[in-house]
Amino acid sequence: MKKLRDYSEEIYKCTKCGLCQAVCPIFLETGLETSVSRGKFTILNGIINGHLKLNKKIGKYLEMCLGCRACFDFCPAGINAEEIIYAARAEYAEKYGVNPIKKLAIVTLNLIQGLRRSGSKRSSHSFMRFRVKPGMTGSGKIAYFPGCFDTSAKAVKTVLEKNGYDVYIPKGFSCCGMAARSAGDINTFNKLMQNNISKIPEDTEFILTECASCGSAWQDYPENIAKKAINIYKFLDKTDIYIPENAKYNKTVTWHDPCHLARFQKVSGEPRNILKKIPGIKFVEMEEPGKCCGAAGTFCITNSKVSLAVSKSKAKNIISTKADIVATGCSGCKIGIAQGLAGLGKIKPIVSSIEILAELYSQE
Ligand code: SF4
Ligand code: SF4
Repeated sequence: MKKLRDYSEEIYKCTKCGLCQAVCPIFLETGLETSVSRGKFTILNGIINGHLKLNKKIGKYLEMCLGCRACFDFCPAGINAEEIIYAARAEYAEKYGVNPIKKLAIVTLNLIQGLRRSGSKRSSHSFMRFRVKPGMTGSGKIAYFPGCFDTSAKAVKTVLEKNGYDVYIPKGFSCCGMAARSAGDINTFNKLMQNNISKIPEDTEFILTECASCGSAWQDYPENIAKKAINIYKFLDKTDIYIPENAKYNKTVTWHDPCHLARFQKVSGEPRNILKKIPGIKFVEMEEPGKCCGAAGTFCITNSKVSLAVSKSKAKNIISTKADIVATGCSGCKIGIAQGLAGLGKIKPIVSSIEILAELYSQE
């Protein structure tokens, strides 16, 4: 992984135009220059040039980023603030240690995965196999990475089986490492990554992920592995999805784009396509479907006030649609949306498109 100093030219490209202010969810809530990429680049430039010291106060400013990449999409100079801020956090963690709350969250996630591993009855012998292999030429062996929260794993199994694939989840996966990476805990990220890679047999053609954050973490693994990882919506959208006769899902549904899906993996049309194929669904778009949900992993714990404000802003857009159901594809976003809705005194079911499809199949 690149060091902060390796980004000096990138940082210097910032023209201070301030356009990032219009899209940074944290700046929109706080109005603080230190919370937007432009302000952070001014500070980081000072550190690289030796005019400023990376101290604890600056560490707090570095925390104020959701890693949503909204500014990257909007920046005329094309600077990826998320990547640079994460490199700065890693440098900060080397000097002062990882934020203890974040460390606790990282340990807890691994504990959850460990408990699941010890209780797992999942097969480690068979692979999912394509009955049809659209545009795919390899072994046809596919593994599924369920992630720590694993909220959609049962639905994923149902949907894949109904569409002609057997489910294979290798034993011994750990957390994907996203929480460690964003906290600047690169040693832990590398350990988790190495463990996960070691569980994937060499002739695996694809590694499916449903959780957007997990999928993004796999994109940060070495290229030979990253290119095998594919989001399940992208995967299914290429196939002729099975729709049972006479089954209907008579609900109004809106879709929230997880940052780690739409911006990091460029997957946004695919989950919508799947929803629109489901008979009975009335699909409604919310305003700013790609605006961050505010959870951002441990951000909702370490900066709960700002996180809630961002989540409420998301929830307002959801409520305006009058949708019965909120669909999304990230376990972290489910938390952000739930806290935003609850903050406005509302409750709505928050599910993934895969869970809706599984419910449709259950009508058979
Ligand atoms: S939009 Fe890009 S160039 Fe403009 S101030 Fe923000 S980071 Fe700098
Ligand atoms: S990545 Fe998101 S939260 Fe971080 S500075 Fe950019 S827009 Fe703001």
